[in-house]
Amino acid sequence: MRKIAAHYLFPISAPPRRNAILTLGDDGEVLDLSAPDSALQEREGVEFYSGALTPGFVNAHCHLELSHLRGAMPQHTGLAGFISGLAARRAAFTAEQALRAIALADAQLYAAGTVAVGDISNIGLTFEVKAHSPVFYHTFVERFGLRREDVARAARSAEALAAEAVRLGLSASVTPHAPYSTLPELYAALAKSSRWSVHNQESSDENLLFREGRGALHELFSAMGLTPIPPTGKSSIHHTLQHVGEAQKLLLVHNTCTSAADYAAAAERCKNISWVLCPASNLYIERRLPPLQMLRDKGAAIALGADSLASNTSLNLLDELKLLAAHFPHVPLGEMLRWATLGGAEALGVEHIFGTFEKGKRPGVTLLSNLDLDKLKLTPQTKSTLLTKKNTYICR
Ligand SMILES: [Zn+2]
Repeated sequence: MRKIAAHYLFPISAPPRRNAILTLGDDGEVLDLSAPDSALQEREGVEFYSGALTPGFVNAHCHLELSHLRGAMPQHTGLAGFISGLAARRAAFTAEQALRAIALADAQLYAAGTVAVGDISNIGLTFEVKAHSPVFYHTFVERFGLRREDVARAARSAEALAAEAVRLGLSASVTPHAPYSTLPELYAALAKSSRWSVHNQESSDENLLFREGRGALHELFSAMGLTPIPPTGKSSIHHTLQHVGEAQKLLLVHNTCTSAADYAAAAERCKNISWVLCPASNLYIERRLPPLQMLRDKGAAIALGADSLASNTSLNLLDELKLLAAHFPHVPLGEMLRWATLGGAEALGVEHIFGTFEKGKRPGVTLLSNLDLDKLKLTPQTKSTLLTKKNTYICR
């Protein structure tokens, strides 16, 4: 048994508490959460930390397999420029270099307080690292395709790769990549999956492609000898909504160019959506931020992702939180921490284990040090550290 405390504790399922003691079992299970205790710092047998304690972070959108591209991609190219640059630069590294970067990224994000990740895989390169990691991974095996003749093979290979992930002990499901890259037939072929993670409205060119059949993405695909999806007169989100099952869990990732009308259409069509925001990646590629205030006003289920080291300098959600705090200083820290913990756990369907300090869960404990404790705000110097090691997760 272990008793841990700090100046503040964020249970997430309840308002923040000052000077409360979190009691954990040997396997990291939450046994108790005490009421505030002013004499806490002198209590024998209690580890007291300066700062705040939060459940471990849950990164709902990541591409671990792109970790070797840290610093290799130019910024502010727009989505079409990013996509065209990615294929060329990805091929310039060996599998060994990529594997080393994957193992390092996994170790770093765990040490900095992340306990669970929704990870996109196009190939199986990350599987061994993920299977041996103390971090829980849900692997989204992703496929895209604009050629009708490739659809059946793409769907079959996705199912085979997901089955391989499951054989290695990973949780996995297949998913379409994005409306602009995925034919209706491929959406349909991947529709048996219970959980999709779809890149959504990451760029204004995506909406332009669907509304008017033009723009940088249209030009990119035409130059690649591919036939772009014909215009529908509607924004791109409708392409995904047409194919999602009503009972399916849907993670919509980025949403940088999502309007209130798009939100309403999505909420009408699908009852179980997580809106996953990756603000650092959006600034890196598109130099814009998602419509956070609109999503808050609508009561959206928000989660956070770090995307990949091809479009971010860090996979630590603390850096996403610092960025959001700088641009949206009116949002309380407790609300943002909810997105980084419970929001992600709900997106991945593991909220029975992660996301809150509630009895019976094994959420991990992350210490936030160098906070502004008077205003309860992050500072540029705030650091995150995972305090609990050797948690064992059984998530099947
Ligand atoms: Zn992504």
